[in-house]
Amino acid sequence: MAKRPYIVGNWKMHGTRSMLSEARAIDRAAERLMKAEVALAPPFTLLHAARKEADLIGIGAQDCHAAEGGAHTGDISAAMIRDAGAGFVILGHSERRADHGESDADIQAKAQAALAAGLNIIVCVGETEQERDAGKAEEIVTDQLVGSLPPCAESGEKVTVAYEPVWAIGTGRTPTVEDIAAMHGTIRGKLAEIYGDAAEEIRILYGGSVKPDNAAELLAVADVGGALVGGASLTADSFLGIVVAA
Ligand code: PGA
Repeated sequence: MAKRPYIVGNWKMHGTRSMLSEARAIDRAAERLMKAEVALAPPFTLLHAARKEADLIGIGAQDCHAAEGGAHTGDISAAMIRDAGAGFVILGHSERRADHGESDADIQAKAQAALAAGLNIIVCVGETEQERDAGKAEEIVTDQLVGSLPPCAESGEKVTVAYEPVWAIGTGRTPTVEDIAAMHGTIRGKLAEIYGDAAEEIRILYGGSVKPDNAAELLAVADVGGALVGGASLTADSFLGIVVAA
């Protein structure tokens, strides 16, 4: 696991064209900070423009439809995302699982469609606070992994897992480093069961209230291969603070 840390900003439903200057600033600085691999996931409407503004960092989407095309008003296919110049897609974020009722099977179908279209995938998993309090966090996360990940992937390089405890997203709260290490170890073990040797190539990101001031500590945890960052990715200043810490 000598790979560079992978730091991905998820802009969620934030960003109009005026925010492209942040993408440009991140791109310019990322060139100097090559110790990390940096990527941004802006909303669909900014994908193409962000790709043109930023030529060094990765650009990806936050969701895709599982179908190749057809009568799906308002939806976006993996091929369209690729055509817009993006290279990856985030799937199964807890906000999509909650707001759109996405099941593990839905996410798995999207993951297969994305890989088939030539996109890399970041598949999100994570327990709620009630599930953690009930001692079920590991069971929930491993079930989500088995249900949401494509059963086979031609290369582990194309697949990233993001562990994002739902109760840590946007709350300023994070698990202890011991809890993160334990969960990442569990995820690593499950990935080996699913993919065998190819699992070694899969990076496991931590997400949930990653900020410039806690990033160094969180990214130093065993088997944390990077971070999925929401709120703190919206300005170049705070996002680059995390990239520097990595
Ligand atoms: P946050 O969001 O960094 O704002 O907690 C993380 C995420 O939802 O990916």
